Amino acid sequence: MRYTGAGTLVVAVALALSSSQAQAQARTPAPDEAAFRALYKELIEINTTLSVGSCTEAANAMRARLLAAGIPAADMQVLVPPDRPKDGNLIATYRGTDPKAAPIMLLAHLDVVEARREDWTRDPFKLVEEDGWFYARGASDDKAMAAVFTDSLIRYRKEGFKPRRDIRLALTCGEETSETFDGVDWLLKHHPETMKAAFALNEGAGGELDEHGKPVALQIQAGEKQYQDFHLELTDPGGHSSRPKKTNPIYRLSAALDRIGAYQFPLSLNPTTRAYFTSQIELVPAAVAEDIKAVLREPPDAAAAERLWTVNPAWNSMLRTTCVATMVNAGHAPNALPQRASANVNCRILPGVPVEAVKQTLARLAGDEGIAITTVGPPEPAAVAPALTPAIMQPVRKLAEEIWPGVAVVPTMSTGATDGRYLNAAGTPTYGLSGMFHDAEGSRAHGLNERIRVKSLMDGRRFLYEIVKIYANGTEG
Ligand SMILES: [Zn+2]
Repeated sequence: MRYTGAGTLVVAVALALSSSQAQAQARTPAPDEAAFRALYKELIEINTTLSVGSCTEAANAMRARLLAAGIPAADMQVLVPPDRPKDGNLIATYRGTDPKAAPIMLLAHLDVVEARREDWTRDPFKLVEEDGWFYARGASDDKAMAAVFTDSLIRYRKEGFKPRRDIRLALTCGEETSETFDGVDWLLKHHPETMKAAFALNEGAGGELDEHGKPVALQIQAGEKQYQDFHLELTDPGGHSSRPKKTNPIYRLSAALDRIGAYQFPLSLNPTTRAYFTSQIELVPAAVAEDIKAVLREPPDAAAAERLWTVNPAWNSMLRTTCVATMVNAGHAPNALPQRASANVNCRILPGVPVEAVKQTLARLAGDEGIAITTVGPPEPAAVAPALTPAIMQPVRKLAEEIWPGVAVVPTMSTGATDGRYLNAAGTPTYGLSGMFHDAEGSRAHGLNERIRVKSLMDGRRFLYEIVKIYANGTEG
């Protein structure tokens, strides 16, 4: 599917799809779906960006809806950091019957990445439905899951669902700006009891549609790579640019970055990525399947991995630690020899690989005593991949077969970062699971004109509503 470059095919399919989706759009949604759409719209249209928005306002709005549905006020808290009044987090507990059973957690973040009106086709802070798509900042990342989780608690309440375990909803702030503030990290430090659970469901995985819009693979994410920035810097006495010296910091840093750029960290698979690639074999053309088999062999075949990288850059990121230069800064005047040159190298580290080991590799590659390498920011929690136990996987397989017959269930490791890293490191196994399918282009999360297919959102709504009921009556953890 990712291998077809058939632009025109996509257009034809898009036209066919849009007419059926236009029909779907014309249909009158069922009362509970209408209620969901209203909740989703309200959440989307509350600006929760770091610059001008308020997570606290969104948290209170969702609290008000839960209260109106009959969730007791005593079972809900909007927890706001005293020094950050706009970064509020909602914790709401739907009570189960067995007080000894650990709760399950439904985690979603309320904040969204910045979006400028003038860059977008439509107002990013207005929910727009067009041709079977919802468009808005956060339409996918992550207000789709935040709305579905909140709506599910309301439906459980309405139907009088009595699960064995408590179901704890955590709508948090700061996921997109964790270098400034992260709600889950803050709650773990200041309200740790709210973050304890048998396990948690979170963003981090969706589903793959083929070029005909047919669901082919439902992903469940277990673990993610560790995010770490490194700062590389060197200084020099400088001087007058009319008298260049044999070397200067810009050349030395460029040479070091060049060596880092040319380096490939070793290939390494873990249980999750091995399961992921194994499940891909059935979904790809024969030639690619052969390369995947070669990479699954011990030791993994480097030439095959190289070919897979061309096919899908995300696959390379799943197979090894990656480090890439993302920012440089040097010089202080056009007519002066530079006195300082620095760069940011962003690494995504495989679970189990120590940050210090990566730092030493960068130092070796830089190969220049003068370059100081430091880790940026507070140390990130070490990446821990939760186990994909039968109690977690079987309900997913069973329900997926009901909703999307024949779909493959694919374990995956996220190459990006989610708040699951904090929870996993704190001992709460956290899985990325949404049931929301995307085409090859994806949701444009963090980008322009973010969107989600209406059908994907509604299917995901059904999937999450039902899987949570199963887990809430389960015995895992
Ligand atoms: Zn997100």
